[in-house]
Amino acid sequence: MPMYRYRCQECGTEFEEMHTFEQTVSECPECEAEDVKRLITTAPTIAKGVLTHAGDGRRASKEELQRKWSEETPKLRKKMRDKLGEDVVKQIPTLNMDSGE
Ligand SMILES: [Zn+2]
Repeated sequence: MPMYRYRCQECGTEFEEMHTFEQTVSECPECEAEDVKRLITTAPTIAKGVLTHAGDGRRASKEELQRKWSEETPKLRKKMRDKLGEDVVKQIPTLNMDSGE
């Protein structure tokens, strides 16, 4: 299950929540405000991190990214398929990145 990081817009508390892709976060654990902002989300953020760490050119970075996704997406896809159905999963581009080329 992916970990998401949030910052409360009310009191500035940062916290992490582990939940499935389709869920949204509940509220700030400190002040219970629902005005929280997700700091780490999906592909673009992961891509940025991989690119920063690799730093050796686009080819390696892309392979790193694809490897990460090929590890994570089947689990996520299975969960969503169980919950939402195959047709829904097919329509979510980020879950089909690893089979895109
Ligand atoms: Zn708060």
